[in-house]
Amino acid sequence: MSEIVARIGLAVMLMPITALVWTIASYAFIYNGNWPPSAMSVVSVWVFVYAFVATYWICLWKNVVKWTESRIRRSWVVTALALFAGVVACSCFTIFLKQNLAEAMLGIGQIVPVCWILGTIIVWKETPLERIERLNLYNRRSVHCPACQYNMTGLSETRCPECGKSFTIDELFVAQQDQQLDLEDRQQDLEEQQQDLRDDCNPSAG
Ligand SMILES: [Zn+2]
Repeated sequence: MSEIVARIGLAVMLMPITALVWTIASYAFIYNGNWPPSAMSVVSVWVFVYAFVATYWICLWKNVVKWTESRIRRSWVVTALALFAGVVACSCFTIFLKQNLAEAMLGIGQIVPVCWILGTIIVWKETPLERIERLNLYNRRSVHCPACQYNMTGLSETRCPECGKSFTIDELFVAQQDQQLDLEDRQQDLEEQQQDLRDDCNPSAG
């Protein structure tokens, strides 16, 4: 299992594990015989669950995401918006469905982690430029089969174990250079596109 597959597996497991954490927290904070529960006990459950989801999700992706200043700032904005969505949803439930606050929070509290995770996926996703930079770094250290792109780094022979084709050392070297040039071209194109976009946004500056 490659690392990324393991990460995706753990990401998928977040939902059932969170359901389990929610059940445990509910038994700990709510089910003491009183119904409807106090608003405070429901808040305790959700604080516990939100903290768990945030810790799990951040630990899962912290080494993969490039933590630029703007990305950290946007992550805080996402957090604030998710909490705000929770407040709005609870207000709607109490006002329009005439539920008491504790029941409303119990019913719709999961909207906060759902919004937060969707938001972080958008904010944490690498930009096309970051992707090229990452591939550039990767390609500088690696040799790929010119025929099938299999990573041949570290092999002691010039025959690709994946597709079986043999190459001379200079063929592999030329292929590596081409790959590098291709990536640099794409990086330059993207940078030019971004510059054009910026120029379009404020024509007075140009
Ligand atoms: Zn090959």
